[in-house]
Amino acid sequence: MKANYHSMGLRTLEDISSIILHSHDLQETLDNIVTIVAKRMRTDVCSIYLLEKDGETLILKATKGLSKASINRTSMKVHEGLSGLVVESRGMVMTDNAPAHPRYKYFKETREEKFLSFLGLPLLERKNPIGVIVIQTRDPRRFNDAEISTLRTITFQISSIVHSARLLDSIQNKEQERAWFEQELAKVKNGSSHHDLSTNRTSNSTAGIRTLSGTSVSTGFCRGKVYILDRFSDKVIKVARVGTKAEEQRKFTLALEKAKIQTLYMEKRVGETLSEDDAAIFHTHLMILEDRSFITKISDLIEQGVGATRAVHDVVHHYVQAFGAMEDPYLRERSADMEDIGRRIIDVLEGNDNAPLKLREHRIIVAEEIFPSDLALLDHDKILAIVTEKGNIYCHAAIMAKSLGIPAVLGVKGLIAAANVRDEMIVDGSSGYVYLNPDEVVRQEYERLERDHAVRLKEMEGLRDLPAVTSDGSRITLNANIGLLSDIRVANLHGAEGVGLYRTEFPYMTRTAFPNRNEQAALYRKVLEGFPNQTVNIRTLDIGGDKGLPYFPFPHEDNPFLGWRSIRFSLEREDIFREQLAGILLASPAGHPTIMFPLISSVDEIRQIRFILAEVSKELHQSGHDTLQNVPLGIMIEIPAAVQIVDFLLEEVDYVSIGTNDLIQYTLAADRNNQRVKQYYDPHHPAVLHSIKRVADAAAQAGKKVSICGEMAADPLNALLLLGMGIREFSLSAPSIPLVKQAIRANPLEECQRLAEAVLICRSSYDVRQVLLEARSTLQLS
Ligand code: PEP
Ligand code: MG
Repeated sequence: MKANYHSMGLRTLEDISSIILHSHDLQETLDNIVTIVAKRMRTDVCSIYLLEKDGETLILKATKGLSKASINRTSMKVHEGLSGLVVESRGMVMTDNAPAHPRYKYFKETREEKFLSFLGLPLLERKNPIGVIVIQTRDPRRFNDAEISTLRTITFQISSIVHSARLLDSIQNKEQERAWFEQELAKVKNGSSHHDLSTNRTSNSTAGIRTLSGTSVSTGFCRGKVYILDRFSDKVIKVARVGTKAEEQRKFTLALEKAKIQTLYMEKRVGETLSEDDAAIFHTHLMILEDRSFITKISDLIEQGVGATRAVHDVVHHYVQAFGAMEDPYLRERSADMEDIGRRIIDVLEGNDNAPLKLREHRIIVAEEIFPSDLALLDHDKILAIVTEKGNIYCHAAIMAKSLGIPAVLGVKGLIAAANVRDEMIVDGSSGYVYLNPDEVVRQEYERLERDHAVRLKEMEGLRDLPAVTSDGSRITLNANIGLLSDIRVANLHGAEGVGLYRTEFPYMTRTAFPNRNEQAALYRKVLEGFPNQTVNIRTLDIGGDKGLPYFPFPHEDNPFLGWRSIRFSLEREDIFREQLAGILLASPAGHPTIMFPLISSVDEIRQIRFILAEVSKELHQSGHDTLQNVPLGIMIEIPAAVQIVDFLLEEVDYVSIGTNDLIQYTLAADRNNQRVKQYYDPHHPAVLHSIKRVADAAAQAGKKVSICGEMAADPLNALLLLGMGIREFSLSAPSIPLVKQAIRANPLEECQRLAEAVLICRSSYDVRQVLLEARSTLQLS
């Protein structure tokens, strides 16, 4: 019975999502939400009160069940009434006899005296209350745990929807004020105030070869046409031919329809390649594409004689500026959505069919910067390579490019100024060189390199089913790091023996709200089923630092990498953490999961995690769910503090995994994404190597498993060194597995141990590198 309530919650969220598509303003959004929640929770009443700017007054904004006449009329201070108590306490208020509650206040106009039971939860945005959602019934009903949990999930999801709808409303109001003001000003000046936005950026000549270089982050060669992933930059806006007003209106209407169809298509495609839930980001886009005020603004401009392309550009630009100027980081994020949508409509208007999310042909993606969500949405099969002006080897987009097996060169200075739409390019993902419009000599050289590369790839394919065993017989485990559903195929293709790190934040990044337990369970189930006889090490949410969420504005921090990230976020936002743990446990019977917690710095954190996990597990068990018992628990060793107390930590967990990406940055105080300090970010620094050695020794002593899941081990020589230091299990981006396997199979463990001994007595990185250089000639490396 309780299980039904959870599926009911899920259904409600789906309903809410679809209703939002048809909500054009705040009022419609709220009305739709209360109607659906009351229906699904089977309550007589559902109401939403929003908190005014003064932070003290709650106003009834929407209700199903109370008198409609009381909307916008019923108001209360936060120190009065049960709803006020919800805001004051920032928590749940529940009673089955509301009138008997000491905080009960009767509002005549609502006619609510007939309702006995009351359950209210705060709508929170970045921990600040923005309102209250209340459900009520006539009967003295006590809501059970499952019902409360369902309402909590719904509340959590709708908070940001309400927040953004409210902000959109306020922007629209501000715009109306401004329009009036501008009109008045224009009258005074006796002229038009419509300002001209320059759209022509001088482009470089496409003629001539250009050789550029950057950081190679994913190996491989390719040659092809570029696709400039230009985030609605002026560069793609041609001076369009302007037809009659009627023609331009028709063009715009058609383009809008096509953009909507494209958006729906993307939703479907992302649903297939990632998960249906990941496709939710496009709901927001559709909502904007159907927004009456957005459409009217563009049509009005066209009526004034502005061409459709320019009209879309100007209106979108206006929104982007309005959003971008907001102090609220959530709204600033929305400006990216506006840019994306604007680009899509203009792409259609201008016949630029190579829309970034629907590449018609194979293309080399050229961009100023590429984010994990771009990669999540792009058509992976059509991407020949990725070349960007910003970014480096340790950013998450680079890690994803590697797992997708796409050659990538990032941090190419001068790229955007040099590249043009019709350019051809050769990308050498091994050396980091990029050739624009190569001549015959370069082409021939490239073809030779490509042939060599193909031969090596063939060799590697032969390795797929061979075990990773050193030439003197030690068995090593090579797992894959994954993040997307499409990684399952890539991991299997490269002979991964399981998943050593499943980064769960990527599915969170491409959504519009936090996924609930059922949505997560569905996704985790698919991942577990992708590795039927293998272990999948699921890492809980690791956001913050360089990984943000479009729908969750993090507070501004001067040092986000030393701030509220990762497990610190999860332990504070227990609601989100519990949903994730429940999602993992619900999916657990589908395979062989282990659960790993990132950025651990103390034993207390592990104890707190165990406590929460036990409660979640009990709750699921009591509600009749079948979950695996005693799922192995592990932690990541990424902070120097964890290295110092690794013996204590090992007593609390089943295994540890060393995250060298973070461990290096924290040990050496060098931001992993900052090019300025890249010489300090050094995997061969003795402090880093001795930290790893210490963890490996402690794990051996404790008889517990230790692995490495950072990028460092993707280099075959590093892998041999780490092997010599006692590591027997690695988790790598899948395409790195064959090369590392080849190195392992070609060398004896004894040699690796000798190398480790020689390295560990070095006092400087320079000395370490000298030893490694020598080792290149004695070890078998291809
Ligand atoms: C690491 O820090 O090494 C790691 C594997 O985690 P992430 O790169 O996701 O921070
Ligand atoms: Mg990390």
